[in-house]
Amino acid sequence: MASTRLTYRRRQAYNTRSNKVRVIKTPGGKLRYLHIKKKPSAPKCGDCGIKLPGVPSLRPREYATVSRPKKTVQRAYGGSRCANCVKDRVVRAFLIEEQKIVKKVLKESQQKKR
Ligand SMILES: [Zn+2]
Repeated sequence: MASTRLTYRRRQAYNTRSNKVRVIKTPGGKLRYLHIKKKPSAPKCGDCGIKLPGVPSLRPREYATVSRPKKTVQRAYGGSRCANCVKDRVVRAFLIEEQKIVKKVLKESQQKKR
């Protein structure tokens, strides 16, 4: 029976987060370590924290290799905030502007009375 003791395939000897392995069986029937890449975490909305739909979760360097349309959504704040949060922002900005106009009109009408 062959020995089940295995050695790392790379020049890093410590059991760190970046040195995770899985035992596989080669086509030749030998057991060998397969180095596993770190799991990516999905990009999240900066306001509410949900995973952004339409944007893939990749390792940081992998984002450099995919094209821009795959990393964003065609919308204001696309690829950074989710649709609901953008909607809230638009509505809030609109209401603030409306309130400014109402205040202005009220001030003008009060000045006319005097
Ligand atoms: Zn959000």
